Order: sequence, then structure tokens, then C-alpha cells
Amino acid sequence: MGVMVQGIPAAPGIVIGPAFVARWPRLEVPHATVGPDEIEAEVARFQAARQSAKERTSGLREQVESRLGSVQAKIFDPQLMMLEDPDLIEGTVTYICDSFLTAERAFSLRVLEFRSRWLDATHARVMDRVADLLDVQLRVLETLIDIPGPEFAVDVDDPVILVAHELTPSRMVDLDRSRVLGVATDAGTRTSHAAILARSIGLPCVVGLSDLSHRVENGVEIILDGRRGKVVIAPSESEKRWFHDRDARAKQAEKQLEGTVAEEARTRDGERIGLYANLELPADARAAVAVNADGVGLFRTEFLVVGKTAIPAEEEQYEAFKSVVDTLAPRPVTIRTFDLGGDKFPMFLPPIAEENPFLGWRGIRIYEMMPELFRYQVRAALRAAAHGQVRLLVPMVNTVDEVQGIRAVIDEARRELERDGIEHADCPLGVMLETPASVAIAAVLGRYVDFFSLGTNDLIQYMLAVDRGNAQLSQFFDLYHPALLKYIRDAVAAASATGVPLCVCGEAASDPLGSLLLLGLGVRSLSCTPSAILGQKRLIRSIDLGQVERVVSRLLDAETGREIREQMVMALGDVVDLAAVDADDNLSPSD
Ligand code: PEP
Ligand code: MG
Repeated sequence: MGVMVQGIPAAPGIVIGPAFVARWPRLEVPHATVGPDEIEAEVARFQAARQSAKERTSGLREQVESRLGSVQAKIFDPQLMMLEDPDLIEGTVTYICDSFLTAERAFSLRVLEFRSRWLDATHARVMDRVADLLDVQLRVLETLIDIPGPEFAVDVDDPVILVAHELTPSRMVDLDRSRVLGVATDAGTRTSHAAILARSIGLPCVVGLSDLSHRVENGVEIILDGRRGKVVIAPSESEKRWFHDRDARAKQAEKQLEGTVAEEARTRDGERIGLYANLELPADARAAVAVNADGVGLFRTEFLVVGKTAIPAEEEQYEAFKSVVDTLAPRPVTIRTFDLGGDKFPMFLPPIAEENPFLGWRGIRIYEMMPELFRYQVRAALRAAAHGQVRLLVPMVNTVDEVQGIRAVIDEARRELERDGIEHADCPLGVMLETPASVAIAAVLGRYVDFFSLGTNDLIQYMLAVDRGNAQLSQFFDLYHPALLKYIRDAVAAASATGVPLCVCGEAASDPLGSLLLLGLGVRSLSCTPSAILGQKRLIRSIDLGQVERVVSRLLDAETGREIREQMVMALGDVVDLAAVDADDNLSPSD
């Protein structure tokens, strides 16, 4: 049996091949000085190198723009900003002038200072920016000194799975698709730039694999499963067959599902279920249309802040929102305002020392600290609403006061746009039901909002007090816990009593058995990752909703999550088709 390593799924696809461990040699920039009469020339050398780095970064940006689109190209904006950063430039020039250091040494020292300042001061998510800084450093130094490339110790003519500690965005873009089957990195998050680019390029990728690059030898065969975030080192023949099989089945199932694109998501007994898409990036909008989603149930907007040193401008947000609205038209698009804090701390947020970030400054609470953050989004959303159906969704709401505060900001933004003669339109306001408190008072919140979006990811986390990001706790992260059933049923009842539509947008909505539980509890709209929509539609078309409701209603008094799950599998396992793609995420080849 091989060694299975769990990481973070970054881009889907299963590939098997030899590992190519890219160990970029440590950058050695020797300590060297120049004479007092060479200072001016040395400063000029640095400025020329910086200029050339800027030109090459812009070139890369253009290349990405034509290959992948304008949103992906923006990934290089933070790097261009760093190359203009007065602190970085002046600090380097000071080292040259005052300490007589060479341009390369002075610049490297300054970069090192930035790097350690970022790593000390803020959250691990700043790692995303550190990869950008490394890119910038390499590109400036390339002009000044000879920089060795990665050590090629295997025959890279054969396609390989690239294993690295970390990939900078430009290295990801530069990869030769004919030689690289997939990428596995120790560092990185789902929202790091390299991961976003891998998804856009369609390159299977797993990140966050801790020390994989030290555990794998060059040339050793590995399996990379980008959908589940798994890597298997030196797999056995049976494991290879198992993954191979799954890959083949996934592809075959995808083909078969294409036939359901034009069909309606209607159950056998005639109930039409809303099937919406969750988007992480504007580019995902095309995928949502390709699977004929009813609209966008959740457009996460955090992509706008990843790696940014300043709050994104209203115009940039408006462009991004408008592009999705245009692509989806005439279907509705639900834009969720920033859900920052927790595990997402962009650079422009003041560093906050928190013991428990997920219980700290997160979601709507941050808007109090930074009102402009919310105001620009609201204005951009109202402006995008002039081009189609836009709905505004706010995360982590707990109280009626918060909803009234949001309404006040929306009213103010509308007045400003009116006054300035800027084209805009009204949009319905919704809140996420993702804390136990919000579900408990949903009937009250329903008097103040136009729609609800139930987020199972956070609701499970907060109800069961289980960190959603901790893979080691995953056995405790249980949608089928009897407490969850009661709360979801209560949320559905409160929504229907107040006449407020409710859609579920957490991961449970994309899971076959999970969605049957939701439907059985009375949920009638699901928002899923685009790749799950056709499978979910096929499932919906195969069920008798009355039967699902009867099964679930019998489970409301069950004592354990295990019992609920088992009963559901027993009663509905045949429709779920447990062999279907993604249904057995928790199974491994040895099960
Ligand atoms: C959720 O909490 O279920 C949800 C959909 O929001 P996010 O995963 O972005 O927190
Ligand atoms: Mg959430």
C-alpha cells in the first residue's frame, strides 16, 4: 500500500505519474559592497532591474489575460504594485547609499525584511502574498545576477507530477502542459493565486500537503487526486487500478450527464427544485451557464481581495459583478458581500491578534471596523443590478440590528448614486443563516429580509463546535447530527411562515445523500458547485419527493447521526447510487 497524504483540493482531476520534485536552489546573494564612487551607478543598476522586472511582469499579465481572461490577469497586479512600493524601493536605495551594498544584496535584504514582517505580523493567509514577493524578488534579481533554475534530476521528457514546496503564480503559468500532468505543493491554500490559476488552466492540483516535497523522492510514482485533495506516494497496483477506475467512471459519468443539461430539475412526483450555482470567480459563470443552472445562489467575492494591499475599488468590483450578471442574464445572481476574517485576512485589514479567529472579527463584524469595505460593495452591486437580476447576500448575521444597519447603508448608497446620476437598480437583500443564533431567530429575521441562504458549512461548525478547516476533526463534522436536522427543519419552517424563500448553499447541497436530507427536511432550492449540478439534477429527477420526506420525517427522533445516515442509505441508497462520482468521497481504496 502506498502512503496517502491529505491536502487541500485545488483543481480537479486524477493523474498518475512519476514525481518531479522541483527544489529551487536557495537564492545565494553574496554579501558584496561597492566603492563610494560607484553608488550612483549601482542605484541606476537597481532601477533598471526593477524597470525590466516591471516590463516582464506586465508581459506575463498580458499573456495570462489573453489565455485566461482579465480576472486571472489581475493576479499579477499585486506584484506590479510591489515593484512600485516606495518602502521597498527607498529601503533598497538607502542600503546602497548608506551601507555601500550591491544592488542585488540591498534589494534582497529589503525583501527579507518585508517577508519577515509579514510572516510575524499577520495570519498564515499572508503566505499567499509571500509567494508574490518571491516572484518579484526573482524577477528583479534575474537581471542583476545569474539565477539557477530548478534542479532537473529526472528525465523531464516524460510527463511528471510536479511536487514543490510552493509555486509562485508565474511559475504556475509557465508550466509546460505537455510535460506536467499535475501539481502538488506543501504550502498554499484554495484561494492562493497558484491554486486559482491551476483551476483556470485545468491542471489537477493539490495544495497544503505540509512536507510532501521532503517525503517524496524524484521519480517515485504518485497518484494525485485533485478533486479530493489526496496524494498517494508509491501506490500499489490495486490502488492505481482503484484511482484509474474512478477517473474513468468520473469521465464516463460526466459524458452521460451532458444529456441532462436541457432537462428540468423536477422530481418524479412533479416538484420543481431550484438548482443554482456557487461561484468563486467570475470565470466560473460560464460553467454555471454550461450546466444550465437556474442562476447563481452564492457568488463568493473574496477573490477580489486575495493578495490585495488595498480595499478593491468600486469600479473593479462593478466590472466583475457586471460580467457575471451579463453572462447569467436573465437568471438571478446572488452576490455575497465579503466574508473576511476567520481564515481570510487580506493585507489591508489591520492585524488582529485573536485566539479564535472564527469566533472573532469575521463577516459582517468587519464592516463595522471598515465601513468602506461594505459601502463599495453595496454600490457596485446596486450598479450591476441595472444590468440584470442581482440579489445581495450578507454573511454571518446574528441580529435584527445588524440587518437594519445593512439596510441603512444600502439606502445611503442608493441616495448617493441617485444624486450623482449613476445608473443603478434596487436589489433584494438576504442573509446567510449560518450561525445557530440566526436560525433560532429566523422567523424574526424573516420580517426584515427578502431571502435566506442557509450555509451548512458554518452552521455545522458553529453548532457542533468543530473547526471546519481541521481535517483531523472531519469525523465530528456531521451534517446528520440530530441537532442539525432539527435546526434545518426549523429554518425551513421559519422561512415558509414568513414567506421568505430559502436556498441552501453549503457543501451539503452538492452532496447526493446530503441534498436528499435537505430535500426531505423541506428545502426546495440548492446552490451547488457548478461541477455537481448535473449529477444533482439527475438525482432529483430520479426521486419521489414524497418518499424522501417520509424517510426523513421518520428520522427526526433518531438518536445519533450514524443512525440517521445509515437509515437514509438503507432507504434511499439505490437512488443515490453510491457508486456515483463524488458520492463516496470518504471511502478510500482500502474500504
Ligand atoms: C457556508 O458557510 O455554508 C457557506 C456557504 O459559506 P462559506 O463556505 O463561504 O463560509
Ligand atoms: Mg459561511
